[in-house]
Parts: sequence; C-alpha cells; structure tokens
Amino acid sequence: SNIVIAIDGPAGAGKSTIARNLAISLNLKYLDTGAMYRAIALYVLHKDIDPQDKDCVKSVLKKVNLDIKTKSNGNNLVFLNNQEITDEIRQPEVSKAVSYIAENFAVREFLVEMQRKIGRDGAVLDGRDIGTRIFPNADFKFYLTASIEERTQRRLCDLLKEGYNTTYNEVKQELLRRDEIDQNRTYSPLRMAEDAILLDTTNMTQKEVLSKLLERVEG
Ligand code: C5P
Repeated sequence: SNIVIAIDGPAGAGKSTIARNLAISLNLKYLDTGAMYRAIALYVLHKDIDPQDKDCVKSVLKKVNLDIKTKSNGNNLVFLNNQEITDEIRQPEVSKAVSYIAENFAVREFLVEMQRKIGRDGAVLDGRDIGTRIFPNADFKFYLTASIEERTQRRLCDLLKEGYNTTYNEVKQELLRRDEIDQNRTYSPLRMAEDAILLDTTNMTQKEVLSKLLERVEG
C-alpha cells in the first residue's frame, strides 16, 4: 500500500516507538527523520565544526552520504559514509547539537528531497515538519504531545537504560531547550498541521496510543 502517515510533535512524546509499531501493524516502511538530522550533527561534531557555523556546516554537506536501512523489527539502521552510526546518534552531545543543525536552511533542503523520496511509495514518518512541509498531502497526520513532566520521565528512563548518567532536571532542561529552538526557527518550525489529529499521550500507554492511531487509519 502507498499510504503516507505523518507523525509530528515535540521531543520525547513517544513518536518513534509509535511510528515504528504503526508501520509494522500496517506493513509500511518507517522513517525516523530525526535520525537524519542527528547523523549530520554527529558528522559535524566528528569534524570539530561548530554546529552553529551555518556556512561551514553547509559546505560539508556534500561529503555526507546518508543511508537508512530498515531492520526486520522495523528499526532504522543509520549509515554515514558507509559506517553504521545507529547507536552513536543517541548520545547526549548529539542531542545538544542537533537543533542547531536543524535550523540550517541548507541542511533542511538537503534532507527534504531524501525524505520525500523514501516516503512517497508509502511510509510512516516521524519528525517535526512531516505534516506541514515534507508531506503536506499525507493521508493521515497525527500530532503527539505529552506534558513536559511525562516526556522528561520517559526520556530519563530511556537514557538510564542505555547507561547514560543523567538527572531528571538535566533531561527536562534539555527537552525544553530543544523544543524552544525547534518551535522558533525560521525555516519549517515545529508546528501542528491544521488538519492533524492531536493526541495528548500523557496518561496513555503505548498500546492505547497505537490502537487510537490504528482506529483512525483503518476506520
Ligand atoms: O526526533 P528527534 O528528537 O530524534 O529529532 C532530533 C532533532 O532533529 C529535533 O530536535 C529537531 O531539531 C530535528 N528535527 C527536525 N525536523 C524533523 C525531525 C527532527 O528539525 N522532521
């Protein structure tokens, strides 16, 4: 099937887990667009470039060869210049730098075409601007949110499980900072599309969120 489903929302709202499970249920491809911004952020950090140096970041894009593969469990494997970086892009240093990378017009232009190409034959895509910019004509658009406390708690548990040493307050400040940059940038800011379905997942389990979305899609 070639239906396109957009899932947008702030950081830590549970978009990627839901998007991946929705894709599995519907037998669709899953694309984590945030992973693509993270991959560029990682490259920039490895090259010792200041993520806020827009011209310099722009000038190295031609050296970035990104490839996204899908595992049988629906997870995206991310390759940067033929090296797998799936786990590395989750590092807190990458999370810190990525919103500056995402503000860069040249970076967004670079990724827009890739994302449209990957998604056009049917996919569930999660990100910040899928319903507003990447696929404004998506068949279904969802906007997932949750309270900052809930999003912090979920992200904190993920990070601790992965072995990172961090605190509730550190994670909270980091999510707020990233949302603020994502909402206020000039180019494709984080916005709910006018025709998106809003879902506050604060008091919902992942299973409940998934059935809500499936209900809407399968009618
Ligand atoms: O989804 P995730 O939190 O991994 O995304 C990392 C960052 O990438 C976001 O904070 C945002 O700055 C950027 N992003 C974006 N547009 C998208 C997906 C992610 O600007 N479609």
